[in-house]
Amino acid sequence: MCGSGHNCYSSASTVIKIGYIRHCVPQTDAVVLDEWGGELTTDSIDLPNPGPGEALVDVRACGVTRTIENAIQGGLSDDPAFTPRVPGHEFAGVVEAVGPGVDSVEPGDRVLCYFYLTCGTCDACRRGDTAQCADFGGWLGVHRDGAYAERTVVPASNLLPLPDEASFEMGAIAADGLATPLHVCNRTAVDDTDTVLVVGAGGRVGVHLSQLAARRGARVLAADVDEDRLAHVDAATPESVTPVDARDDDFTGTLRELSEGAGPSVVVDTVGDLDTLSDAWEALAMGGQVVSLTTHHDRTFDPPMKEFVVKEASFLGSRYATKDEVVRAARLLADGRISPVVTDRVSLDEVPALHERIRRGDHHGMAILEP
Ligand SMILES: [Zn+2]
Repeated sequence: MCGSGHNCYSSASTVIKIGYIRHCVPQTDAVVLDEWGGELTTDSIDLPNPGPGEALVDVRACGVTRTIENAIQGGLSDDPAFTPRVPGHEFAGVVEAVGPGVDSVEPGDRVLCYFYLTCGTCDACRRGDTAQCADFGGWLGVHRDGAYAERTVVPASNLLPLPDEASFEMGAIAADGLATPLHVCNRTAVDDTDTVLVVGAGGRVGVHLSQLAARRGARVLAADVDEDRLAHVDAATPESVTPVDARDDDFTGTLRELSEGAGPSVVVDTVGDLDTLSDAWEALAMGGQVVSLTTHHDRTFDPPMKEFVVKEASFLGSRYATKDEVVRAARLLADGRISPVVTDRVSLDEVPALHERIRRGDHHGMAILEP
């Protein structure tokens, strides 16, 4: 024993036999996924020293979200070679140590994390469109271990500065829950002339997007499908945001009514429900834009091509956010321009049960893991 409570291999005979001194491997508590679509368990795992280009981070806050549930179910990769895996990418913390060649961060730095594993050198990375990296290396928490852990080792290039005024919780929200909405608003140039329909407004992306679009001056219709979720949206957004029940028999008519007859000019779908999307498409304003954030493999939305022409409509996919937008999202929260919405705070032990609730659709808002 080395004094840290687990077995290690530092006896003299072992050293002689294998020819080198094998130090006691540090451990960290983590939530581990055994296989894609499989079980989550809390366990103590080996924590590697940070290698070249890597940093060890003390995780202070990590989102527990539907995006991560999708990854757990194999929605981003189902290659068995990548399991067992520690999921989790929406996190903030403090750098504890850095590996060789790292000068972008140093021990003690407060950081938040970028989700995608990018090359940093392709045309897209150099011009700042990091989500479009041509040499994409996958996702943190899928292709390498993430932050459902007390401590984690990640590429230092994924770590971004957390503003002094931002809490770790704000960093966890900014990392995806607000960075993704910021990317959508930038892509669609949302402003005071717009009526923005947010489909799935009760989720963490939906509720922060509703706030952000309202702050940009847009009229916001925040749609969701049950009383609890609509009440949550109402409580977590400014008065100018109108909660709308997407189960309404005349959803299309309601959308027109709430937008002075014109219909929404920007529709952001965070859910992938085809009935709701069809109603929204029918109500879409002339020149309107529909933005998809859903990654369901089995959903196809195929309005007749003529309808694109007649309405001069655009259909856009929006892919996460740039590194710059992640930092800007943290600043929006740090100075109070956007209010962080947190519904639950959980420990590592509580993460598996929370994912079961997310899987059942029995959870809304934003849960934060405090390892
Ligand atoms: Zn790249």
